[in-house]
Amino acid sequence: MKLIDRLSEIVGVAHVVTGGGPEGPAPWEQDWRGRSKGRALAMVRPGSTAEVADVVKLCAAEKVSIVPQGGNTGLVDGSIPDTSGTQVVMNLGRLKAVRSIDRKNMTITVEAGCILQSLHEVVEDAGFLFPLSLAAKGSCTIGGNLATNAGGTQVVRYGNARSLCLGLEVVTASGEIWSALSGLRKDNTGYDLRDLFIGSEGTLGIITAATMQLYPRAASQLTAWAALPSIHAALELLERARRVLSASLTGFELMGRFPVSMVRQHLSDQRMPALSTDDPYFVLIECSDAESESHARSLVEGLLSDAIESGEVSDAVVAESLSQVRDLWEVRESIPLAAYKEGLMAAHDISLPIASIPQFVDVTESRLLEAFPGVRISNFGHLGDGNLHYNVHAPSGESAAEFLRRYEEQIRQIVYDSVHQFAGSFSAEHGIGRLKLHWMDSYKSSVELNMMRSIKKALDPSSLMNPGCVVGGG
Ligand code: FAD
Repeated sequence: MKLIDRLSEIVGVAHVVTGGGPEGPAPWEQDWRGRSKGRALAMVRPGSTAEVADVVKLCAAEKVSIVPQGGNTGLVDGSIPDTSGTQVVMNLGRLKAVRSIDRKNMTITVEAGCILQSLHEVVEDAGFLFPLSLAAKGSCTIGGNLATNAGGTQVVRYGNARSLCLGLEVVTASGEIWSALSGLRKDNTGYDLRDLFIGSEGTLGIITAATMQLYPRAASQLTAWAALPSIHAALELLERARRVLSASLTGFELMGRFPVSMVRQHLSDQRMPALSTDDPYFVLIECSDAESESHARSLVEGLLSDAIESGEVSDAVVAESLSQVRDLWEVRESIPLAAYKEGLMAAHDISLPIASIPQFVDVTESRLLEAFPGVRISNFGHLGDGNLHYNVHAPSGESAAEFLRRYEEQIRQIVYDSVHQFAGSFSAEHGIGRLKLHWMDSYKSSVELNMMRSIKKALDPSSLMNPGCVVGGG
């Protein structure tokens, strides 16, 4: 019997789909930006952990590799098949149940295909907070968030996906089910396998469920938008905000003038705060206070007026209503979409020791402008985590596609060499996937790479789990 028929026997005929034909790839065969396109043997949508295990066993027996897929919002080509037409994409979207909420332990156990926004809604209805939040929350899944160790906008206070996870259920590369969903906060009984699977981008096994930490909801949440004369001033403001707001500081996002102007141009200018400055940078500050609205307001207003007095901030507004809060966040979260509408770019998701960011920005910008006069740099990101989305657009009036075809690799080399010089990371939160694999040899030590390859070999000896990603193979 053909593989497709046997897959259909496991998950049902309706849940095995073949890829795009001559008209082009199916949506699940291409990445979110539409830049990379693959071709799969089939896409299979299992409806339970047992079905995931049976599909993995069948594929292992037939030596067919599997690409796990959640919401397919990943930005490093890890969730789409290669072009061989031989891989099976396993979409986890049908595994979306909330299995339980443990109010005493403050945890939720949820299946991997649950969309992050749906998880937020369930948690909010239960009176708690689940703090992982990113612009792709309407499509990305908790399994994908864990597989990429996603960061997002509240890492400054709550950490990334890894710090929110207390347990996992995983189908291993041989099709066994490892269930460790107890939600224990302390368990030092050997190597931390949970942490190994988090951030492994589907290369070691398939996450089918997770137990995640919940938090109490804040009594009030306040959002402010400030205009700043320099990135150096943004770091001064960050230091001040950490001191004044302490654990109430839950977001500190940086935006250059260029990315904000792209949102205004391509999406909407209704939501822009009316600030009368020409400053090159903006910062969005979120304060989540356990006490009260008036307490939060006095903290934030005090912070901003001191910052204005000392010259760190030129002008600022504090959101007066929930809809204004949403509008301010929407500007920040719309930047990736606006940039996408602006045209192709060389995108970099980098992290740096926070104190070195101003120097990094100066040095890298002058290197880029010297090599490619006129390039437009869009700099924004989670400054509180030292994480920048540092994107380089073609000079105005030039064909972005042609410019990138010729110069993209050289631009990346300049940016990543600078990152390396300042002891940063060339992938802060998006992972490696296939897109960044060839940079691993340049920026990771051979000791590190060898340990990673040994782990891959031990857990997936035939290299059938997302081969070609993170450590290569396949
Ligand atoms: P997918 O894209 O489907 O998969 C991502 C990787 O995880 C792939 O390697 C895939 O094989 C693997 N995978 C997926 N599900 C599983 C599973 N169940 N088991 C094992 N492996 C699996 N990322 C951030 O960290 N912070 C941000 O602020 C952020 N903002 C974004 C904004 C936009 C507009 C977009 C499009 C993306 C953004 N991302 C961000 C990147 C992306 O959304 C995240 O990486 C997200 O966590 C991926 O989830 P997903 O369900 O879409 O996974």
